[in-house]
Amino acid sequence: MDTLEIRHLVGTTWEGDPALERINPARPDDVVTISAVGDAKTVDRALDAADAAWQEWRATPAPVRGEILLRAADLLERRSDEVAVDLTREEGKTLSEATGEVRRAIAVLRFFGGEGWRIGGSTYPSSVGDGLIYTRREPVGIVAAITPWNFPIAIPAWKIAPALVAGNAVVLKPAQITAGSAWHLVSSLLEAGIPPGVLSLVNGPGSVVGNALVGDPRVAAVTFTGSVAVGKAIFGRLAARRARTQLEMGGKNALVVLDDADPATAARIAAIGGFGLTGQACTATSRVICTPKVKPAFLEAFVEETGRYQPGDGLNAGVLMGPVVSQDQASSNRSYVEAARAVGSTPITRGDIESGLFQPPVIVTDVGVDDRIAQEEVFGPVVAVIEAADLDEALAFTDATSYGLAAGIVTNDLRAAQRFANEVQAGVVKVNEATSGVALNVPFGGVKDSSTNTFREQGSGAIDFFTWSKSVYLTPPSWS
Ligand code: NAP
Ligand code: MG
Repeated sequence: MDTLEIRHLVGTTWEGDPALERINPARPDDVVTISAVGDAKTVDRALDAADAAWQEWRATPAPVRGEILLRAADLLERRSDEVAVDLTREEGKTLSEATGEVRRAIAVLRFFGGEGWRIGGSTYPSSVGDGLIYTRREPVGIVAAITPWNFPIAIPAWKIAPALVAGNAVVLKPAQITAGSAWHLVSSLLEAGIPPGVLSLVNGPGSVVGNALVGDPRVAAVTFTGSVAVGKAIFGRLAARRARTQLEMGGKNALVVLDDADPATAARIAAIGGFGLTGQACTATSRVICTPKVKPAFLEAFVEETGRYQPGDGLNAGVLMGPVVSQDQASSNRSYVEAARAVGSTPITRGDIESGLFQPPVIVTDVGVDDRIAQEEVFGPVVAVIEAADLDEALAFTDATSYGLAAGIVTNDLRAAQRFANEVQAGVVKVNEATSGVALNVPFGGVKDSSTNTFREQGSGAIDFFTWSKSVYLTPPSWS
């Protein structure tokens, strides 16, 4: 298979010498991408280009900006099979998961392309004669988008699309290890007619390229998705220079299974959330909180499910779970399982978790709610099962971490489901569904350490982060 050469996009020029290789986590002999490694100077030039371009872009009618996104969606759709294969090769998720993600990116471009017709404000009655008061949405200026590797095309799409249609210039810094997917997206937008400088792509390490973007006063807003550690590190710097900030971070998402639930259904939902996407989703189920009567039957069915999620090459048909993304991630996953074993928990797995990147799912039982495995995001196919006496305790346990991204409940009891939905401290609540997976037309984000919890992503409201509201008082000149 071909190796993609990834360069930076600055203005209209693809630049930089490809230097960094990304090897397919499922096939050590497949070099998926070789990408240029940028630095502060590359960022500086991308910001110069953005500075020169954004006033004209801002003056371009929003429906015209939207048309470019719609065109990019068509171009990406034409190449979607190839893009999905490259996504599987560089990130590891199965081809069916990758295809879903590419389709999502296309749908996101279409959704925000359409928003070009709808970005609007409000009108208010004036106390002065025939006056009119109305609000306008103004673009913030230059936006930096810093994105993680686990949804390497969908997340860049759901940040770039609303930013662009709202009239901002964007510099994208994707995760280095998944530079190919971001490049496919940016290429489609360039081919669709995004003017030079309005969208730049700068590759390279977060500590260099991300760092330069965070510190540059020309960047009016930073939208970041990634780990809490990195998010916290950049938050203070952004706050100090009062840059508009949107940080969406990790989760320790719980699925509550109540006694009245069908154990097989609950196990299927837990497996999709826990092992789908190799557990490498911010909304992945990483804890199951079970009440006592359902627990034995649930556990039996859940262990049975692990048989279907044995890891394999995501390009092969029938594989439900791809490899772990990297050696670092694999050894981190292993160390969480070992730490749990060391405090008396019981890991259950069908395979060998020592065997490189093809890590089988692990269910950890005999877990205390304060144990490390129940508190820290693992970001792999590892699910801790915790017992709770009843719904009250299940709710308390669900909230007993620093995170607040997604939470789910499996039950036939509408009253219990509704109480859980009302009371739980999580940005996303799923009833009888996996914690992972979100709709593109619905606000998305977390609370507590999972998010800055200021602006939501996705849906029409995503525009709010990328614009500010101006109030205009329009009074006829004849008024006296
Ligand atoms: P990460 O290590 O925090 O990296 C995220 C991005 O930040 C990458 O592009 C990274 O660059 C960059 N970066 C690293 N250090 C930086 C710095 N000092 N300044 C500026 N940027 C910097 O996260 P990840 O490992 O890519 O992704 C996994 C994490 O993302 C998990 O915690 C997951 O829960 C979270 N996530 C959250 C959501 C959500 O919507 N809530 C969605 C998906 C993933 P390089 O890695 O290229 O160096
Ligand atoms: Mg990382």
